Amino acid sequence: MARIDLEHIRHAYGEKPKSEADYALKEVHHQWNDGGAYALLGPSGCGKTTLLNIISGLLQPSEGRILFDGKDVTNLPTQARNIAQVFQFPVVYDTMTVYDNLAFPLRNRGVPEAEIDRRVREIIEMTDLGGWARRKARGLTADQKQKISLGRGLVRNDVNAILFDEPLTVIDPHMKWQLRSQLKKLHRQFGFTMVYVTHDQTEALTFADKVVVMYDGQIVQIGTPAELFERPSHTFVGYFIGSPGMNVLPAAIDGDRVRIGEETIGLDHAPKIAAGARTELGIRPEFVRLGREGMPVSIRKVEDIGRQKIVRADFAGKPIAIVVPEDGEIPAEPRVAFDPAAINIYADSWRVGSK
Ligand code: ATP
Repeated sequence: MARIDLEHIRHAYGEKPKSEADYALKEVHHQWNDGGAYALLGPSGCGKTTLLNIISGLLQPSEGRILFDGKDVTNLPTQARNIAQVFQFPVVYDTMTVYDNLAFPLRNRGVPEAEIDRRVREIIEMTDLGGWARRKARGLTADQKQKISLGRGLVRNDVNAILFDEPLTVIDPHMKWQLRSQLKKLHRQFGFTMVYVTHDQTEALTFADKVVVMYDGQIVQIGTPAELFERPSHTFVGYFIGSPGMNVLPAAIDGDRVRIGEETIGLDHAPKIAAGARTELGIRPEFVRLGREGMPVSIRKVEDIGRQKIVRADFAGKPIAIVVPEDGEIPAEPRVAFDPAAINIYADSWRVGSK
């Protein structure tokens, strides 16, 4: 498996890009560790597939280089990069049996039959395809076919990386959960470098050890799920990760205090902010305390979602969301307090001190 270096990658699909807006990737410069499980997460059109295709060699970047373990592969075609790919729509050979589909990449490489048999059986067991091994792939369901295509990626143990492009989209919800945990287990066991594109935050957060959040052709944050939750480096990350997303309120800094409308809130430190910078305060709905003390809010709506309630309220003239435990009380004269340790301050949408 390999470390992946992305060096100053930019990409425009058109012939002559006229402005930054014409670039599908604006500047991607990062190093991804050997054996890491990276999930590329972001809204539709942010550049996830473009970046994945550049890593796989389906696409040449307009600018920049890509290296596997220090070796420049920018100009190598996909076949010469030694990677496995699993796509949204499974690629299987319908006329071959499940077993032969899985054995195919190994036979192609001249792996001895006894070794092929051992590895194929292992994958068949892990993907629960046991009952189907001798069946032709034609006629299998979409999720069984996707398991074959997943298995074909996993059966090769010499690849630089395994790339996944929304591989669970066509899988039914129950199988999705099962496949995700199987994949996680296999990753732990074999330690392959994996890059996994998804726009589903649950999938990204449960499965990856590093989540790469993309927005408008850029990587805005790479972090563990906990880092993305607690310290989003950009207001977009705060909003995109979490349900409901982080509250973002226009704010003015005054030393170690912050003003929102008429309200003043103490911080646990004085942020270093350029005078006149546009400032925002970010606080997750889970860290807003609703009770009888603090600053006044007016409640608009309470949504009961089972284990907790989501309270929609107006605070200092702005809408905010508050997460309250299922048995939490909603006072007649509600007030809110913000946990100072959970407050993030942003200037021009970037967390102060994080860029
Ligand atoms: P999705 O989740 O919808 O697949 P994505 O994050 O994978 O989105 P990309 O498919 O990489 O995003 O697209 C990034 C940008 O590049 C978008 O603005 C898209 O319209 C544009 N784009 C993608 N493919 C092409 C292409 N073949 N020709 C022209 N523009 C393209």
